[in-house]
Amino acid sequence: MKILLIEDEPDLAATVRDFLRGEGYLVEHAADFPTADEKASVYEYDCLIVDINLPGGGSGIDVIRNLKKKRPWAAVIIVSARNAFNDRIVGLDLGADDYLTKPFYLPELNARIKALLRRRHFGGNNDIIFNEIRVNPNERNVSVSDVPLDLTPKEYDLLLYFLANPNRVLRREIIAEHLLGDDADQMDDFNFIYSHVKNLRKKLLDRGCGDYLRAVYGIGYKFTDKT
Ligand code: CA
Repeated sequence: MKILLIEDEPDLAATVRDFLRGEGYLVEHAADFPTADEKASVYEYDCLIVDINLPGGGSGIDVIRNLKKKRPWAAVIIVSARNAFNDRIVGLDLGADDYLTKPFYLPELNARIKALLRRRHFGGNNDIIFNEIRVNPNERNVSVSDVPLDLTPKEYDLLLYFLANPNRVLRREIIAEHLLGDDADQMDDFNFIYSHVKNLRKKLLDRGCGDYLRAVYGIGYKFTDKT
């Protein structure tokens, strides 16, 4: 799962970034309004954590307003100072999903992110179930027909991304961004995706899973149980 952290206080940003990386998220960071606004409009994120007061000629509210015009479904958590009550209301009106008041407790931020992603992608369920596959995102573990399956971190991220987007053709570029972050757009070769997909597919098939991972020639991949 890929997160954009918009926060201009260097110490807080580093603390939150390191914590979320430790929890297994891919975290991109923007420390001012222009960077945040550009990243939010160019790249897709599973969740944006948005500080309100930013340097650079705009606020977190402006980032949310621009983002929601383009991607109304984007998941947003506002992080604001205790006295920024109005900004919080405006942000929620613009379609932000949740907010936290500074200072906050890092595990609470993680709990809010997980709850939001579950609501967004998985109908609010704790476990994500796709036929014989079961994923517990809290524990980052996977089982097939109730037998645990070992995946590398990249294979796990890939599987979760496919399960969040079933029956949808996912372009290689978007998968690359999801696995590598925004550096992926400097890549001209998607072989590494091919090898992660191949390994994941083999592990699933070896466990007797249906053949859900389909290549869509020249475009990318689709995870589906429909023929
Ligand atoms: Ca700030």
